[in-house]
Amino acid sequence: MSTFKTLLNQYNWNDTLQSIYAKTENDVLQALGKSTRDLEDFKALVSPAAAPYLEDMAQLSQQITKKRFGNTIQMYAPMYLSNECQNICTYCGFSMTNKIPRRTLNDAEILKETAFLKSKGYDHILLVTGEANRTVGVEYLKHAIQLIRSQFSNITIEVQPLDQDEYELLIAHGLYAVLVYQETYHRDEYKKHHPKGKKSNFDYRLETPDRLGKAGIHKIGLGSLYGLEDWRADSFFTALHFKYLQKTYWKTKYSMSFPRLRPFSGGLEPKVEMTDRDLVQLICAYRLLDEDLELSMSTRESELFRDHIVNLGITSISAESKTNPGGYVVEKQSLEQFEISDERPTEVVAEMLKSKGLEVVWKDWANNWQ
Ligand code: SF4
Repeated sequence: MSTFKTLLNQYNWNDTLQSIYAKTENDVLQALGKSTRDLEDFKALVSPAAAPYLEDMAQLSQQITKKRFGNTIQMYAPMYLSNECQNICTYCGFSMTNKIPRRTLNDAEILKETAFLKSKGYDHILLVTGEANRTVGVEYLKHAIQLIRSQFSNITIEVQPLDQDEYELLIAHGLYAVLVYQETYHRDEYKKHHPKGKKSNFDYRLETPDRLGKAGIHKIGLGSLYGLEDWRADSFFTALHFKYLQKTYWKTKYSMSFPRLRPFSGGLEPKVEMTDRDLVQLICAYRLLDEDLELSMSTRESELFRDHIVNLGITSISAESKTNPGGYVVEKQSLEQFEISDERPTEVVAEMLKSKGLEVVWKDWANNWQ
């Protein structure tokens, strides 16, 4: 059975990039004037020709989001279970060769962390681990899900890609969604940034959403790490991936995230910088491409940026996040995977959302029928 790999192999990166840069003002105006848009319209909307139309895109994006989602924003919290990892990724603090203390939370520690998140009101949780099959393989994940299942309505994971039968097992034990970002769809660049470990297998990662769709997962989260390659081409290929999955696994919901590499001392410098304006353009372009796609914003972005973007198309947001195992209560000082920019407490972010006329949603799903 064919997978997204078959479709991706029909595209050439440079030709795609050129076709995006060749889009004209007329293409942008046509895309803005339509009620349903295709991937050629998406190319126009992420092209440099669309930059002068950012205000129009933002207004349309806001209208469509309100029509489809109402004035709501879902809140979720990430919880890191482990920083052990057998991969080398050039952009990550948990990379195997980094000499940092490694730890994986035990049951008591997991429950301490979840008690903190419950006290803050969270009902949607994102469990995150590095990729270490021996310590945080499918048995560990199954156990962790079972341990916290009664406390959370929505359990999502962002962990190593798994086989279809392993996903089926986790779904049977209460897993709701999986986030898996391709990082970049440029094969050669991907190889440079993932030189060692299971993650160096581009195709296995690329076909993960196919395995998830076949396993019958409720929701799949996609994304690229913007900055590894040209963001316009990577966002097009992510959109191509999303549209393929939506058509193939039509019972599944989809979300999109927008992590970007920021220039900072000591970290990997982006090959192609994505500015704040670029990121707004991209978020609006995704909303104009698809009304139902959930758009998610993490605390990687600044307070100012997040306060501005929540009315323009975003549908879920995290707050007060810690990106280290035990970071909420158990061991606050351990090394973070990446630096958080918006450090405001959950209550402050919730108040900010309310002040912008948004209703904060803590729960939109109950799994007690399963
Ligand atoms: S990005 Fe993920 S797989 Fe890569 S080093 Fe970090 S934790 Fe490991």
